[in-house]
Amino acid sequence: MFNNRVKISHLLTWEPAQQEVTVMGWVRTFRNNQFIALNDGSTNTNLQVVVELGQLDDAFLKRITTSAALKVTGTVIPSQGKGQKLEIKAAAIEILGDSDPEKYPLQPKKHSLEFLREKAHLRFRTNTFASVFRIRHSLAFAVHQFFNERGFLYLHTPIITASDAEGAGEMFRVTTLPFDHPPRLEDGSINFKEDFFGRSTNLTVSGQLEGELGATAFGDIYTFGPTFRAENSNTTRHLAEFWMIEPEMAFYDLEDNMNLAEAFIKYIIGYVMKHNREDIEFLAGRLAEEEKQLPADKRSELGLVEKLEFVLNNDFERITYTEAIDILLQSPAYKKKKFQYEVKWGVDMQSEHERYLVEKHFKKPVIVTNYPKDIKSFYMRLNEDNKTVAAMDILAPGIGEIVGGSQREERLDVLEARMKDMGIPADELWWYLDTRRFGTVPHAGFGLGFERMVLFVTGMSNIRDVIAFPRTPKSAEF
Ligand code: ATP
Ligand code: MN
Repeated sequence: MFNNRVKISHLLTWEPAQQEVTVMGWVRTFRNNQFIALNDGSTNTNLQVVVELGQLDDAFLKRITTSAALKVTGTVIPSQGKGQKLEIKAAAIEILGDSDPEKYPLQPKKHSLEFLREKAHLRFRTNTFASVFRIRHSLAFAVHQFFNERGFLYLHTPIITASDAEGAGEMFRVTTLPFDHPPRLEDGSINFKEDFFGRSTNLTVSGQLEGELGATAFGDIYTFGPTFRAENSNTTRHLAEFWMIEPEMAFYDLEDNMNLAEAFIKYIIGYVMKHNREDIEFLAGRLAEEEKQLPADKRSELGLVEKLEFVLNNDFERITYTEAIDILLQSPAYKKKKFQYEVKWGVDMQSEHERYLVEKHFKKPVIVTNYPKDIKSFYMRLNEDNKTVAAMDILAPGIGEIVGGSQREERLDVLEARMKDMGIPADELWWYLDTRRFGTVPHAGFGLGFERMVLFVTGMSNIRDVIAFPRTPKSAEF
């Protein structure tokens, strides 16, 4: 057996009593030819491995370099130095993989996040990214636990689809047709009948429509998978490939939907606050350091831990779109002409407006409901006023929109009329409309952008830093 190692996170909970142990990991630093700081990715706390002077020859010592991979066997003893409870007195060290210090691109010092983005294949070996990705893992686990505890069924909706759920999403085409000489019809257009699926297909922008098929049989379902949008938005909050969680529930109205979304967000934050305390505190410290560089009025009022606790312990504000517009029109920012984009009933709120509401006005997450029908999707339930739909967006401080959802239009005639108005081809969505033909029920759902949630919880500011291998316009390295 090769792998009888103890993970460092576990080992650090032991009482040192001369136990014999084997650890494996990568060298972070090596001081005075004596003290190895070893990291195995299970925690940011390095394990101190002590080499006795004269124990290893010079040639061997020179190979203990940053990021070299080691197998260490030794005994667990109380630490002589301060800063750690225990350390390993090495009996045997094996170098599993050398790391040439002349060529290894990361130094044991602080690198900028931009620099590390260029080295995304190695950035997991830094404390910041190790914390971010352990938290991301925990959030994903908590998502499944939350829904599983509530009897939701995890439905795998397709990645390749022939439908455009949003009606307006910019999609990546999936094809096996030769792009230099595709088969054409007489009118010159491309003949997708000859394509792999016999029709034009795309990568999914959302699993919602298929999710509704599940909800109208199982009651409560959720999806959690990758979605793709070929929108050319080079922002700190948009990716071309991102992960979305989309619960869809039969027998739910808009209020039930909001209650679930709020409980869900609090649950997954609570989970990482409990299980990833060390990583959260590390990132809180990182953020505090970073904010020191900012002018006083740009700094957050709350630290990361306080912010997350605040979200856990307070109700989200709930307002209608109409109220939101009124607040904006009354705001000092509007009166002083600080908004770049127009504010009036009927416009799609821009990020500056959303951020004003959550960061300046309410200073907490806000759920905005009942948007004008003209700026929302065809499947959202028309309200009695005939002007608004039962939509809800959740806006979070520092992020803006984190959730988009709605009660769905369950009335076949209303839905068909809306589709006609908006130019959505009903014949292509015959299967979707069947749910309204056979046992239709009030139902609702939402989509939470997973990376935006990870941003919120980690306090990172660029979405490229919370997904392992970001896909953005002009960038798909690694
Ligand atoms: P935005 O206005 O921020 O572009 P949207 O209205 O296009 O968002 P939806 O179509 O409602 O978003 O998608 C549901 C959720 O998915 C959003 O609330 C957001 O959290 C997330 N999301 C949407 N687009 C992206 C993207 N390009 N990258 C990462 N997350 C996204
Ligand atoms: Mn968008």
